[in-house]
Amino acid sequence: MDIGPLAVLLPAVAEREERLESLTDAQLTESALALRHNVSDARGTDSLVAACALAREAARRGLGQRPFDVQLVGALAMLAGHVAEMATGEGKTLTAAIAGFGFALRGDPVHVLTVNDYLARRDAEWMEPVYHLLGLTVGWIGETSTPAQRREAYARDVTYVSVSEVGYDYLRDGLSLDTEDAVQRDLAAVIVDEADSILIDEARVPLVLAGAVGANASSVSIAAGLVRHLWPGRHYQVAQDGRSVQLTSAGLNAVERRLGGVNLYAPDHLERLTAVNLALYAEALLHRDVDYVVRDGKVDLVDEFRGRVARRRRWPDGLQAAVEAKEGLTATAEGEVLGTITVQSLIKLYATVCGMTATGALVGEQLREFYRLEVAVISTNRPCVRLDEPDRVYLNLEDKESALLAEIAATHQTGRPVLIGTLDVAESERLAARLRAAGIECAVLNAKNDAEEAAIIAEAGVSATVTVSTQMAGRGIDIRLGATDPADRERVVELGGLYVIGTGRHDSRRVDDQLRGRSGRQGDPGGSVFFVSVEDDLVNRHGLDALPPLPIPDPDGELRDPAVNRAVEHAQRVAEGISFELHRNTWRYSVVTEQQRQLLAARRYELLTTDAAARLLADRRPERYAQVGRAVGDRVLGEAARSIALFHLDRCWVDHLAYLAEIREGVHLRALGRLDPLDEYHRAAVTAFGRLLSNADSRTVETFDEAKIDGRGWDMAAAGLVRPTATWTYMVHDNPFGSEMERFFTAVARAALGRR
Ligand code: ADP
Ligand code: MG
Repeated sequence: MDIGPLAVLLPAVAEREERLESLTDAQLTESALALRHNVSDARGTDSLVAACALAREAARRGLGQRPFDVQLVGALAMLAGHVAEMATGEGKTLTAAIAGFGFALRGDPVHVLTVNDYLARRDAEWMEPVYHLLGLTVGWIGETSTPAQRREAYARDVTYVSVSEVGYDYLRDGLSLDTEDAVQRDLAAVIVDEADSILIDEARVPLVLAGAVGANASSVSIAAGLVRHLWPGRHYQVAQDGRSVQLTSAGLNAVERRLGGVNLYAPDHLERLTAVNLALYAEALLHRDVDYVVRDGKVDLVDEFRGRVARRRRWPDGLQAAVEAKEGLTATAEGEVLGTITVQSLIKLYATVCGMTATGALVGEQLREFYRLEVAVISTNRPCVRLDEPDRVYLNLEDKESALLAEIAATHQTGRPVLIGTLDVAESERLAARLRAAGIECAVLNAKNDAEEAAIIAEAGVSATVTVSTQMAGRGIDIRLGATDPADRERVVELGGLYVIGTGRHDSRRVDDQLRGRSGRQGDPGGSVFFVSVEDDLVNRHGLDALPPLPIPDPDGELRDPAVNRAVEHAQRVAEGISFELHRNTWRYSVVTEQQRQLLAARRYELLTTDAAARLLADRRPERYAQVGRAVGDRVLGEAARSIALFHLDRCWVDHLAYLAEIREGVHLRALGRLDPLDEYHRAAVTAFGRLLSNADSRTVETFDEAKIDGRGWDMAAAGLVRPTATWTYMVHDNPFGSEMERFFTAVARAALGRR
């Protein structure tokens, strides 16, 4: 999209600068408040110009940084509802604050979504002085914030919060029994930081709120013990792309024998078959220190996009139990899903969406398809002079690693700082061990010490520093050459700036570009290179058919042939095509759930805020209603009716969600059959939901017939009913049942890219 019309406003902003500079702080704040309360058209050119000028002056005073023109243009692009593409280090945090002020002028509560809690707090505190001068209040939320703190933070003009916390709060609010208990206000305007990561990579991730219903030894744990004795290759086969696993007929026989000679594929053993598939998935495809870490006797997921451990998040129960059993840990309580929403559906609830990222253009098509967002490419404040070298491709992993170590050692000798981006935690650890063995001290940044991540990465630009990190760790933290020492900065500039080395291409070009972007910020010198091998996972999975006959390698194993480099890039494009298809597909599945969720939420809100429940009972059970009313009074009766109705509505929804999950799994297991799985899923979901509301009503009436209602209201315990409590939350990164689908989409993506 064209940013020309936005840049046109810059001279008018500059014109106001001198006058604003002469104001006292109090006068500046007053002008901001006056603009906020008197503006008739906050989207009009005049208000945009005034907002930019005021924000620029507030930043100059509050932070000692005068926003560059490109930052103003970025803010204007966001105020126009676009995704601003601005390189790393261009100052997006401040840009968002300027846009935040602009949204606040429209009277909207503003959320700034960050990729993690650390950044939510850091950015809110960092921008506080600017907002303060502009007469705005700002708050932040973290995983450990209490409901009262959350409510207060959401009540501020601008709230910084991670996408998962907003989602979980939204889901929890959706279960509140009193409108007063809700913590959020309207979802009005949202500024999404690292927009590609949140809007695309995490979009298909369902956020799940789960409640405990006591632990029991599930069939999954039994199955986990069982598959441990199976042999890879003989009993099961892992697909070439490493994303799915299947029992061979020998494996199936072995399992069926151990289960006492059952036929696993008989319809009444679906649960066992599911359990075995889960256990096998955990055993064969989830690797310790790559997909999860074991810490304090617990399994913690590693977030595949951020390479960091996600606290208090878990896989769906079956899989969690399977992994716990695999690691010989006691199973944690099982739960049921109380509410769920995908990141994409959540974002779509906001009236206005905009965002910023260093790598948006590469997902322009997807942002348009999924969100109707356009990307505005903002030029850098100073030209980027980073030297991006072509990939160095090696014949095998061993040669690659030797060359990599040699490159690090040689660079380190000169004193130039090196930042190495790895694909996973295990690789980071392995590499760090080899570096240390070679006498090279290095800092390791990974999922195991995420508390210290920020501090470590901030030092990565100091001379003679070697930092090893998963590619996404430490995002959002500025790497300044020489850190805070100007003399060291000079030294590092002389040496060529920060040198970024990737140990392999990631599944997405954007992630590689993010890594490169850690260097060369604000016109600093810098360099980047990726070391790749033909044996790399990515090439193995998607690049083999595009590889030319391999040339004779150099003595150190390097293959110098542009066709080989092209094959690597081809592999990456296939991987990207697959995730695009997967996203599209998950979206198709989630549309119907989301529609149903909204219908249910509307009914729930009606029950919560009107006398709909009382009217239902008065209508269906007029005599009993009148009798109880005489005994306890209309108000208490109304409350009791509401509690009973909410209980059953929530109960029915929880059961419905479980049913949806079941058919999804069933559908996927049958995906290779003739029926279209998506159609089948829709049909089943719609039919089931059609009965839900009337079922909830009739259960409400039934419970009312027997209910013990006295002056204190409805005695729920006497009815033998228990409300599950929302105790934990998780994100579903892995769909163990999606493997058939994934294989299918791999084929589709390959075909679309013109290759088999
Ligand atoms: P990004 O999110 O775009 O990577 P940050 O918001 O983390 O960038 O900012 C990077 C660095 O640039 C920070 O140290 C910040 O203080 C600095 N910075 C931002 N805007 C300005 C400005 N207008 N003048 C000087 N420094 C700035
Ligand atoms: Mg940032």
